[in-house]
Amino acid sequence: GIVLGIESSCDETAAALVTTDRRIVAQRIASQDESHAPYGGVVPEIAARAHAERLAPMIEAVMDEAGLSLAELDAIAATAGPGLIGGVMVGLVSAKALAMAGDVPLIAVNHLEGHALSPRLADPDLEFPYALLLVSGGHCQILRVEGVGHYRRLATTIDDALGEAFDKTAKILGLGFPGGPAVERLAHEGDPRAVPLPRPLVDSGEPHFSFAGLKSAVLRAKESGQHRDADLAASFQQAALDCVLDRLRVALDAMEPVPALVVAGGVAANQTIREALERFASERGMRFVAPPMALCTDNAAMIAWAGCERLGQSDPLDIAARPRWPLDPEAEPVRGAGY
Ligand code: ATP
Ligand code: MG
Ligand code: FE
Repeated sequence: GIVLGIESSCDETAAALVTTDRRIVAQRIASQDESHAPYGGVVPEIAARAHAERLAPMIEAVMDEAGLSLAELDAIAATAGPGLIGGVMVGLVSAKALAMAGDVPLIAVNHLEGHALSPRLADPDLEFPYALLLVSGGHCQILRVEGVGHYRRLATTIDDALGEAFDKTAKILGLGFPGGPAVERLAHEGDPRAVPLPRPLVDSGEPHFSFAGLKSAVLRAKESGQHRDADLAASFQQAALDCVLDRLRVALDAMEPVPALVVAGGVAANQTIREALERFASERGMRFVAPPMALCTDNAAMIAWAGCERLGQSDPLDIAARPRWPLDPEAEPVRGAGY
């Protein structure tokens, strides 16, 4: 089977064709980093307009490249949430129109499920269940992935997401937007032990993440004028990593054992974090799986793949976009992020 995937939930516009045997047949992606950089973050109206301008030609390009007509698709999968509602609607409405025109099933995909299943696109040997660290711009969760549509959330953040903490640290250090890759680059030149920073909630017994206090500490350390920016970046990254490993220990001890530790989402592109997770997993006798970098940050291949995993499903053409859409509806809401 072959599925067209559409992604437009944040500031990446993307379309991709993926087969059920894990071939990415064609893909296009356009980032809007330059449009949002002057504002230091994603501006929803600018994002929605950019998606509306770019998406249709992009879909045409992947279909042309593959030499396919709409009717030859097995499904059209589009992100239906969570995310910035204007952008999500642009992608979802486009998918509905094409599904109707080609008489092809529509699959409304949870963007977080796209991230959660992306490691299975890259690795055919990754089977359910697995432990997932989902770290992106808007989310920071530890989940037990039990099957398609079956997620048990063990931890989430009570304030900022990990990617958000990277972005805020980048802002404090004047590194621009988006900040994650820039902080990582600068951290390579710094000493991770140079600046004393807190590890919020570590050893608290509480399962969740918190990064707001860490960010404030980075701000105070910067304002003190006593540290090199590279040392600040490296020390921040180390503190964040220590939090992640500690929270993972708590979550893995609390869940029924799984053979693999998997990381996904934009922050999974961070090489230092990937290497530390790989060591952590091997110490626990677990296999470690991380998708290639291009599948970590937002893309349409992961949405198409979620469609492949859900092939056979057909959502009604009046299905609504959802600005909030938890992967585990039974998880208790917490402060801050809410789910
Ligand atoms: P969500 O998936 O929660 O809706 P999003 O789609 O905006 O949020 P992603 O595209 O998955 O998020 O990830 C973007 C985030 O990943 C940004 O916060 C960015 O700073 C972070 N990021 C990207 N590369 C790196 C890196 N090398 N190191 C650390 N963080 C990174
Ligand atoms: Mg982005
Ligand atoms: Fe994302």
